[in-house]
Amino acid sequence: MSGSPLIVLDRVCKQYGTTPVLRDCSLAVARGEIVVVCGPSGSGKSTLIKTVNGLEPYQSGSVRFDDEEVGARGTDLPRLRTRIGMVFQSFELYPHMTALRNVMLAQVHALGRSRAEARERALALLARVGLTERAEAYPADLSGGQQQRVAIARALALDPVAMLFDEPTSALDPEMINEVLDVMTALARDGMTMVVVTHEMGFARKVADRVVFMDEGRIVEDRPAAEFFAAPATERAKTFLSKII
Ligand code: ADP
Ligand code: MG
Repeated sequence: MSGSPLIVLDRVCKQYGTTPVLRDCSLAVARGEIVVVCGPSGSGKSTLIKTVNGLEPYQSGSVRFDDEEVGARGTDLPRLRTRIGMVFQSFELYPHMTALRNVMLAQVHALGRSRAEARERALALLARVGLTERAEAYPADLSGGQQQRVAIARALALDPVAMLFDEPTSALDPEMINEVLDVMTALARDGMTMVVVTHEMGFARKVADRVVFMDEGRIVEDRPAAEFFAAPATERAKTFLSKII
């Protein structure tokens, strides 16, 4: 295993037309590290994490994943994306497939696993997210929290080396948030490298190694979680925290 950080952003800039969305963003995430990204709506959080798996192109700077330049012309993005699991706010499960088949699908298509192998792995992952009993259920018959846990199992099914989460609990009813955060906490404890965009500051306090605070396309704070919560360095972060905690 290499000692260099798994994810390295170096002075990444991105703009839509003339509007800057990422301004000189630099960030390094070590293997096994948990980084929480927070900040006001529109500050560039989603755009930032999507540069890591090549879902958002950027105009300048560099994004490296496991020593490979994501934006380079020769980069095999489909292969890269099998190594980086992504979970969105909207679960985006296939509605016509059971939970089990949702978790099996990409294993067969992207990794070429046999159906038997994919099924075995899917059942193990559904057990890990507490959904053994619901393996044969369709998304419409699952609660939001259950659907998001299936989405996490689906992302894990490709054996990613890192997981990106973009506000995974924002669309959930309050009583379902914890069941999803508990799965994420267990994953973090198991040593997964995770970048998590979230405003769940309880989770950040408990689980994050570092907190990154973004505002207007800039990373304005990047500090150990305990320090960030004890005393945010910037007024913008203080104001943000006072509004959401
Ligand atoms: P966040 O996730 O922090 O809410 P985003 O990364 O989604 O922020 O968006 C950052 C900025 O980029 C916002 O100002 C948003 O309006 C703008 N933006 C996002 N997607 C597009 C797009 N496809 N075209 C133009 N502007 C966009
Ligand atoms: Mg967003």
